[in-house]
Amino acid sequence: MAADMQVLLDRISAEMQSRTDRGAVASYIPELGQVDPNQFAIAVATADGGLFHAGDALTRFSAQSITKVFTLAIALGRAGDQLWSRVGREPSGTAFNSIVQLEHERGRPRNPFVNAGAIVTTDALLAGRAPKEALAEILAFIRAAAEDEDIHINKAVAGSETRHGHRNFALANFLASFGNLKNTPEKTLGTYFHQCATELTTVQLAKAGRFLIGGGAKPALVSQGRVRRLNALMLTCGHYDGSGEFAYRVGLPAKSGVGGGILAIVPGKASIAVWSPGLDHNGNSKLGTEAMEVLAREMDWSVF
Ligand code: GLU
Repeated sequence: MAADMQVLLDRISAEMQSRTDRGAVASYIPELGQVDPNQFAIAVATADGGLFHAGDALTRFSAQSITKVFTLAIALGRAGDQLWSRVGREPSGTAFNSIVQLEHERGRPRNPFVNAGAIVTTDALLAGRAPKEALAEILAFIRAAAEDEDIHINKAVAGSETRHGHRNFALANFLASFGNLKNTPEKTLGTYFHQCATELTTVQLAKAGRFLIGGGAKPALVSQGRVRRLNALMLTCGHYDGSGEFAYRVGLPAKSGVGGGILAIVPGKASIAVWSPGLDHNGNSKLGTEAMEVLAREMDWSVF
């Protein structure tokens, strides 16, 4: 498989690099708006320890919402099923930063991957601790998953989002009004913005995703049962209101971020990361999704 996989990734990368219709870089976080859209990377880490990559796979980018998978894994480890009293497990069908459902569902966000749900998850991680400690645990988990210590938080990106995150402040205040925030909006959001500002390369992200492959793949950081449940949530909720479309086109559990990264899992087989900063109308990487579609089809990878 090794030679074939490298040839395939090189081909996908060349095809995507040549494209001009790349989508729009997220600009509501000004610091992210400065990223060059003409970049593309893909990396695959296999269950048996293989690692393949092509394109700008050693360039760091902002993980943003992909971090929500890691914080959910940690929060479930700490709070267990109690977390589900504060956040649901249903696809939202609305934008990642939507506020309308919060009112309908009386302050219990639909799932842990929309912003409101992720803010609650981060709030749960803060229980009894300072933001510094919670952030240290998040970074330690991601580094352990990637088996790479060289993963850091970009403070300029966190600061940029803090200054412009009016929508997230509205969500946090709304959650607080329903009693579903245990810390102040400032404390929880400060932690959430820093978590989202974690930077890694496409290779590091593919490696960090291996803990979700399951079936004995290393590093095994959570139980097989939890691996299945995290994957189920990624499949149904990982791409916001584009989750059905991604499942239809790619057929793999995955989580996107507005930095243009996507992490997808082939259960029992591989962890895939792609990055291209231009986004589609749902806020998911445009070329990243197309690259995933080609890779899954060519490898005959699908959970269906
Ligand atoms: N930090 C971003 C926000 O809260 C994450 C959104 C995303 O990556 O989808 O708006």
